[in-house]
Amino acid sequence: MVGKLNLELDRSINLPSLERFKELGPKALMGVTQGVIVSINLKNLKYFNEIYSPREGDWLIQFMAEYFCQRNPDYVLGCRSYVDHLLLLTEGKNLSKEALVKKYEEFCNGFLDEVNKKYVRAKVHLECGMYIMQPGDDFLTAQDNARYARRSINNSYRTTVAYYSDDLRNKSMEKAAVIPDFRRALEEHEIMVLLQPKYSASQGHIVGAEALSRFANPEGELVSPAIYVPILENSGLISELDREVIFRTISLQQKWMEEGKHLFPISVNLSRMDFFERGFLEEIDQRIEQAGIPKSCIEFELTETAIVENLNEIVEKLTALRSKGYRIALDDFGSGYNSLYVLGRIPANVIKFDRGFVLYSIQNEIGKTILRNLVDTFKSTRFEVLCEGVETEEEKQQIVECGCDVIQGFLYDRPLPIAQFEEKYIVPEREIG
Ligand code: C2E
Ligand code: MG
Ligand code: MG
Repeated sequence: MVGKLNLELDRSINLPSLERFKELGPKALMGVTQGVIVSINLKNLKYFNEIYSPREGDWLIQFMAEYFCQRNPDYVLGCRSYVDHLLLLTEGKNLSKEALVKKYEEFCNGFLDEVNKKYVRAKVHLECGMYIMQPGDDFLTAQDNARYARRSINNSYRTTVAYYSDDLRNKSMEKAAVIPDFRRALEEHEIMVLLQPKYSASQGHIVGAEALSRFANPEGELVSPAIYVPILENSGLISELDREVIFRTISLQQKWMEEGKHLFPISVNLSRMDFFERGFLEEIDQRIEQAGIPKSCIEFELTETAIVENLNEIVEKLTALRSKGYRIALDDFGSGYNSLYVLGRIPANVIKFDRGFVLYSIQNEIGKTILRNLVDTFKSTRFEVLCEGVETEEEKQQIVECGCDVIQGFLYDRPLPIAQFEEKYIVPEREIG
């Protein structure tokens, strides 16, 4: 094993710079029997600097470097890869990954104990990712692997150390591919629109549906909206997806109307960005006018988090939509922070209760009473209510007991491809009772 390399290149903390670390790493590795890469992030440094002072923050970084390098018996080489990040090459001593994770958990806890003893209001925390190098691994990929592991912790106060798995890298690669895959699917008209029915429990039939998007990667596997929606939101592409889904929904309603089918409202999801995309809402309104379908057949869903910033502007635009006859729904109620202020201002027809909130509520009597009273209050003010994500007959019973009649969930159907949905739910006008 190589001795401790002390290259005073990052002078503030006595460690080589990241560039030097990358250069020196492969050489240092030659003397190591089992190289382990450790990526460590100190969380809450900004808060620490505010509570104490930037000078004490500098001390904290120096102490972190000293603790994880000089005091670490397995240390080979290290650098500060970012303001509050360390990257280490250490000797694994042939420990299993479980044993290594445990060892570093204890080591990290030792660091936090010392810091917290000195700075009681510090609230600092560590996120640490590890990767054991395999024969043939290149040094840079190994560093990435340790970083993937660290990022997987993602603000959890329970986990301090995570070990790399291929799954983490795949997830990350999946994310990187979202934008090109989406663009291709959009260009080649391969964005799918699925429809999930909304059911009236008392009437026993469909009263509406929600349009949900999907697209596949080049291998033909569907990408989950949980992956692509946030990425498209962050990259400003979400409005292109929303426009596509809304246009397809309008065409579908138009086709059904021309075929003399019974129409019901279909909801589409709007993102915050759609309100600020110039001409977006006007273009949709025009398209609906041209299609000649009743405006009450299109419902716009949006979440509260989409509204809270720029509340005034968004409420104004929603009010204009509502006055034209469109329906508005507040989506995922109970999933984030809900303020009565927003509820009082949003011109919504429908409040959609989130699955998590409903499940939590029906677990005990107090929760059920709250749900029942909320449903009552909403209905007696001016809202319709819907419960999302109902999967079992038992959940449905409890929800109906709380006064909610309209239900969307796997109990009735999953989101279906259009052809399947039409076969099951689209009937001529005269057949509806
Ligand atoms: P959402 O608007 O709240 O849609 C309902 C989600 O709940 C759908 O997930 C649906 O498949 C799922 N769900 C329905 N019934 C059940 C159930 O019984 N159990 C469980 N566990 N889940 C159920 P999906 O399709 O994965 O979409 C997730 C979210 O992604 C949507 O939540 C919506 O916010 C967003 N999204 C989907 N398509 C679009 C889109 O085209 N544009 C925008 N802006 N957002 C979209
Ligand atoms: Mg929705
Ligand atoms: Mg929802």
